[in-house]
Amino acid sequence: MKNECDIVQDLLFSYKDGCLKQGSKEFVEKHLKKCDECAKIYAEMNNEDDEINTTNNEIDYLKKIKKKMKKKTKIIIAISIVLIILIVFNIAVFVNYDKYVSEMTIYLEDSITDEERAEIENVIEETDKNAEITYKSKEDALNNMKERFPDNPEILAGYEGQNNIFPAYYEVNSNKKAIEEIEAKLINNEKIKSINTRTDENPYVFFFFSKIYVPLTEKNK
Ligand SMILES: [Zn+2]
Repeated sequence: MKNECDIVQDLLFSYKDGCLKQGSKEFVEKHLKKCDECAKIYAEMNNEDDEINTTNNEIDYLKKIKKKMKKKTKIIIAISIVLIILIVFNIAVFVNYDKYVSEMTIYLEDSITDEERAEIENVIEETDKNAEITYKSKEDALNNMKERFPDNPEILAGYEGQNNIFPAYYEVNSNKKAIEEIEAKLINNEKIKSINTRTDENPYVFFFFSKIYVPLTEKNK
């Protein structure tokens, strides 16, 4: 019997892998049925295999989870970066918008004195000390018009000096509330020809294009 056991145990691996020929296969099966020791060895062999498979499956599973998490982490980081960029961009847009959402042009009568001009500047600075004020004299206004017709200088010929029909003006950049206040305070000033305000621009358009804005020159009160 012992000798048969040795032979069977030598064959067990091949038997388990299913590589035995019919004759030796039947011999092993017959022996396993009557020999507890060999049957036990064979059973353990299968158990070990199961354990290895289980462990491998677990490792595979963990690897898959890890891979998935890595992918998820990357997606989360990418989304976070995009969100941060959007938030910073929007803050920049709206800070800029709040600061300079509105523009106004204040056209002045030719008869205005330096004191009266100073008074107007005071009203603006009082209302918003951060307002950007640019003064353009009658001569500046004429030159400004000429710059807009560089190919047709004859259109604006003869307006120099005494014949200059273009009014001096202030360009004011400020926030919407301040612009409205300034307009209300100055609307009845006799030395002001007209006030032109531009408000409610789209903040994004304003952010990208405000610096190339060409001042309007319509003068209607
Ligand atoms: Zn045996």
